[in-house]
Amino acid sequence: MEETSLQLLTYGLWALEKKNIPLDNIRIQKAYLQDDILESLDFSELHLQRARARILQDAEILTELDDFGRDGVIEAFSACGQERICDQCPFKKICTKR
Ligand code: SF4
Repeated sequence: MEETSLQLLTYGLWALEKKNIPLDNIRIQKAYLQDDILESLDFSELHLQRARARILQDAEILTELDDFGRDGVIEAFSACGQERICDQCPFKKICTKR
């Protein structure tokens, strides 16, 4: 699942679960403001279930890694491998994983 899709599906999950908006009334769109383009993301209940599962899995992984992060055990972590994310990372100047 692409990270952008996961982020947008998370908004859909929020609308469904926290605001009780019926699935049929939820639209997920990505706006490219500079290009004046609006792109719709087709999704279903299955996509939302997958997004929910991915969020829970990621949360479990983060919980398992928490002690390593607090103790500074850098070997426990792999590089994110996404240049766009590394470019915005506050640790990029000292990161040895890039
Ligand atoms: S710069 Fe390093 S710490 Fe930051 S996201 Fe990239 S790999 Fe992770």
